[in-house]
Amino acid sequence: MIEVNGLVKRYGEKTAVNGLTFTVRAGIVTGFLGPNGAGKSTTMRMIMGLDRPMAGTATVGGKAYAQWSAPLTEVGALLEARAIHPGLTARQYLLALGATEGIGARRVREVLDLVGLGGVADRRAKGFSLGMGQRLGIAAALLGNPRVLILDEPVNGLDAEGVRWVRTLLKDLAAEGRTVLLSSHLMSEMELTAEHLIVIGQGRLLADTSLAGFAERVAGGSVRVRSPEAVRLRSLLLGQGVTVSSDEPGVLTVTGMESDQIGAIAGRNGIILYELVPQRASLEEAFLELTGGAVEYRSPGARVDAAPVGAGRSRS
Ligand code: ADP
Repeated sequence: MIEVNGLVKRYGEKTAVNGLTFTVRAGIVTGFLGPNGAGKSTTMRMIMGLDRPMAGTATVGGKAYAQWSAPLTEVGALLEARAIHPGLTARQYLLALGATEGIGARRVREVLDLVGLGGVADRRAKGFSLGMGQRLGIAAALLGNPRVLILDEPVNGLDAEGVRWVRTLLKDLAAEGRTVLLSSHLMSEMELTAEHLIVIGQGRLLADTSLAGFAERVAGGSVRVRSPEAVRLRSLLLGQGVTVSSDEPGVLTVTGMESDQIGAIAGRNGIILYELVPQRASLEEAFLELTGGAVEYRSPGARVDAAPVGAGRSRS
């Protein structure tokens, strides 16, 4: 379990992490999601004792990272921009890392095979592609067979096969009862891997919810209704506490009522419907809407406010 309580980190004028509190449970993959610059890496570095918080605490398995006598067996991490000496081979690097905690050649061979680097174990890291470097970083994180894994954007630089491999690996590791915290700025990545989401923007918590819960918010969207009697239907619906808008003749966008109920009202009043379609925003759109106000650098012309449904800005 990872517990983060009231974490704050400033760099000069810039507040990178602004009072974050959350818990990461064992047995599932938890996604740590936020736009670039949201404070994910900074938070992960503080959990790993690599950055000192200005306020608050972060513990792994009930202790601060520095208090673990054999930290590799408690928590393994892949953080951005891992520095690997380019002159070392993959095997030498892992042996050196393992030596600090009595982890030997056999385990090094195991993790190299596990991440698919068995065949290049004795090549120098300077010849490694970005993807191979990521795999070596994942091998390092797994070296001590840790109970907690913290991975910052682990699929960066991996090809499609590699991305699928990481996904399956993380889910398997979580299913074994480990705690897995995985960061990404892409909802699409989380959608396929994470069971729980912690969403941050500008260093603040925006949502702490199951993926299913996040999807439900999205599902509370609008319904598109097309009918030759749209005007009559509109007046019938308006008495029911819903919002009805219309951008084209004969088509209504109804918010605040399920499609079944709209269909029933139409049926009771003998109104023909040509279309009755719930409008579900994608999780990606809901994420963009949730973090829209918290994006540090926005692409020119990007319309983050264009998502068709409200995913609320409140915590769930
Ligand atoms: P994320 O991982 O979500 O992309 P980061 O934690 O890397 O976000 O960064 C959060 C904010 O803190 C950004 O505005 C970033 O520019 C700033 N920041 C991060 N590290 C440093 C640093 N070492 N010095 C100055 N500013 C930093």
